[in-house]
Amino acid sequence: MRVLVVEDEVNTREFVARALREAGHKVEAVASGRDGLLLASSEPYDLLVLDRMLPQVDGLTIVRTLRASNSNVPVLILSALGEVDDRVAGLRAGSDDYLIKPFALTELLARVEALLRRPRVAQDHGEATALRVADLELDRLKRLVRRGERRIELQPKEFALLEYLMRHRDQVVTRTMLLEGVWDYHFDPKTNVIDVHISNLRQKVDREARPLIHTVRGVGYRLGLDAN
Ligand code: CA
Repeated sequence: MRVLVVEDEVNTREFVARALREAGHKVEAVASGRDGLLLASSEPYDLLVLDRMLPQVDGLTIVRTLRASNSNVPVLILSALGEVDDRVAGLRAGSDDYLIKPFALTELLARVEALLRRPRVAQDHGEATALRVADLELDRLKRLVRRGERRIELQPKEFALLEYLMRHRDQVVTRTMLLEGVWDYHFDPKTNVIDVHISNLRQKVDREARPLIHTVRGVGYRLGLDAN
């Protein structure tokens, strides 16, 4: 498998790259976040191993940027930041796994193998670009949304918001997740931008149908058949 390692600390970079090569993978290793993002955006890797704290562009920004451009390449974050909040931030940014430094080589390799075994949910190139929840269907490539037989016209941000909610079906999605995942804001702009878009989406998606978009009071939203 083809693996990209992005790590600014030279010893860790060489150690990880060597271990992955010995495990039979084709490995490229770079030191800067900018090079990492550039390569990850242009080359078809099977897995990224990203250090979190990197010069220029940090690991989480790389993952967010890739996810925003609909890449679903598996990502393993390496980080010295091991608190629960740090791990949650890493996973919420779109990474698939999070390994805390210092780590045992055997654990790194086991996690890499597990990620490579996992079936990719939607391929970057081709099939499975459609998401479906009950009778609601969203086709990412055709930019098409339907509820049953009814075709729904959405503005670009509404489309991105609905796609985000459908990708996280049956999960509570917080306002922070939406701001980061849909608007790419890493701060709270203190506006009602989310409320306005959710309200518009409800008008279009849930009109004359069983409601799929639910408010989780004080937290955010959940898309699914059940209200809780
Ligand atoms: Ca680092």
